[in-house]
Amino acid sequence: MDYLTSEESLINSEGMINERLREDLLTEAKKSLHKAYATYSGILVGAAVLTKAGNIFAGCNVENSSYPLTMCAERNAVATAVAAEGREVKISVVLVVAEQSDGISFPISPCGACRQVITEFSDDCIIIYQNEDGREISISIDKLLPDAFSLKNKV
Ligand SMILES: [Zn+2]
Repeated sequence: MDYLTSEESLINSEGMINERLREDLLTEAKKSLHKAYATYSGILVGAAVLTKAGNIFAGCNVENSSYPLTMCAERNAVATAVAAEGREVKISVVLVVAEQSDGISFPISPCGACRQVITEFSDDCIIIYQNEDGREISISIDKLLPDAFSLKNKV
């Protein structure tokens, strides 16, 4: 995948993500979205992450009748990336997409917990999501979660 050969090719001069990469992430996120276990909210969410190593991993939301146990698509995708690449994994891009159970697109951005988890594995990650106006947003994680919690000393 040639969009992975250099960091510069990920983002163009207008700050937009490489279109083919965006399409690949969207395809994987949508595949995962259709597997979502969204029995309670009816909001199917899919997320796809691109790692610095050049791999794409996807996840979907998995709800639970004990609501706080629900896991978001973004965190499931990040966990899959960690399980595949190990603790040194770094995340470059996260794309999240959602639909209502009737197939209508549902604007959604990563929740606070997911922003914190993404921050753990990235310094400069780009997040792509659809805002309330239906516009696609590409924004860095440090703008979505400024001054994120961080322990300075990792073991
Ligand atoms: Zn979340």
